[in-house]
Amino acid sequence: MKKVVKFGGSSLASAEQFKKVGEIIREDKARRYVVPSAPGKRFSKDIKVTDMLYDCYETAVAGKDFSDKLKKIQERYQEIIDGLGLDFSLKDDFKIIEENFRKGAGMDYAASRGEFLNGKVMAAYLDIPFVDAAEVVRFNEDGSFNDEVTNELLSDRLSDLERAVIPGFYGAKEDGTVVTFSRGGSDISGSLVALAVHADLYENWTDVSGFLIADPRIVRNSKSIEIITYKELRELSYMGASVLHEDAIFPVRKAGIPINIRNTNAPQDKGTLIVESTCRKSKYTITGIAGTDGFAAITVEKAMMNSEVGFCRKVLQVFEDNGVSIEHMPSGIDTMTIFVRKDTFEEKEQKILSDINKAVHPDHIELESDLALIAVVGRGMKSTRGTAGRIFSALAHAHINVKMIDQGSSELNIIVGVRHEDFKNAIRALYEIFVLTQL
Ligand code: ASP
Repeated sequence: MKKVVKFGGSSLASAEQFKKVGEIIREDKARRYVVPSAPGKRFSKDIKVTDMLYDCYETAVAGKDFSDKLKKIQERYQEIIDGLGLDFSLKDDFKIIEENFRKGAGMDYAASRGEFLNGKVMAAYLDIPFVDAAEVVRFNEDGSFNDEVTNELLSDRLSDLERAVIPGFYGAKEDGTVVTFSRGGSDISGSLVALAVHADLYENWTDVSGFLIADPRIVRNSKSIEIITYKELRELSYMGASVLHEDAIFPVRKAGIPINIRNTNAPQDKGTLIVESTCRKSKYTITGIAGTDGFAAITVEKAMMNSEVGFCRKVLQVFEDNGVSIEHMPSGIDTMTIFVRKDTFEEKEQKILSDINKAVHPDHIELESDLALIAVVGRGMKSTRGTAGRIFSALAHAHINVKMIDQGSSELNIIVGVRHEDFKNAIRALYEIFVLTQL
């Protein structure tokens, strides 16, 4: 059994957190490859080391004195090293970093040092080899990620190592220039390592016990999801549920490696297991509920629209030409409604309306903003009658008007559109009917 374990920033924010991580790793011999993030927040107003590095480097490139800022970063690591009682120093590394900052090594280089240094501390603490991600995670000349070469480099290097620490978030081009993934990218690194070593499991340790059925800021004490498929996860993430970086899914999914989201602060919890497919039914008909606010709807109305060949295409063309992505498109006999994200639509609104007028000469165009979409997602729906009925009765009981309904043919989700004011109540009503009142 081989496991890759990735630890997020809050799991490594202090010596206390490091000790919990040490215990987790020592508890299971299969946890052989460790991918750390940079130290995150120790308390809610704290600053992540990655953000401190960005800030410090900006000061450096502005030609100002950045020594105090760099010293503060060094202190964060020193506190961890001292708290762990390690006979180990990062002094020389900080000297090199200071020089490179002066030389203008780049924003990505600066940010990557958070993981690089934390990886070194972790390797010293666990007494296992450190592998610099710059040597084994490869980016192309144009800055795009090179998955093939990375997989070769990583599997070659790790095949000789029984155990290792590989810092997350960054890699390098062939010439050594450091490049980072987007924020939260250590999740991707963990996934790449799991693929390269053919891991049986990719454990992603964070500060929550997996995915919750509903957003805890809306539903207090939401229960968590035990097992979820990649497809379900994709539906929920699209609607804003986020625990894992989206790009972390592809490498392991392709290789059939499950991901287990675990909580460093509650290691006894099983967390959420993400799998390609499963016979295990979820406890409830639904797996999760997620929603996003901030949609606008444009309804185009024209008598006899249904018999006008090419009508929809012409309307859609307008959105394409204006570079606005369409999220949903419910239609009636003489109407079609287009849902778009308000922030991408707003500034182009008048141009789009005039283009639609020119393209299809509608009788009427109606605009509605401040809409929210809520997805009720679950593989269990396919085999259960009455899911839609329960959704609408829950919303009706909560006095919520449904503005739109959309069920994909896969029967994996039902999306409802509601007014912004009803958004949170709608999620609570759905949670109540599916999770609290009926199993
Ligand atoms: N440290 C980086 C960030 O804060 C990457 C990560 O933690 O995954 O985004």
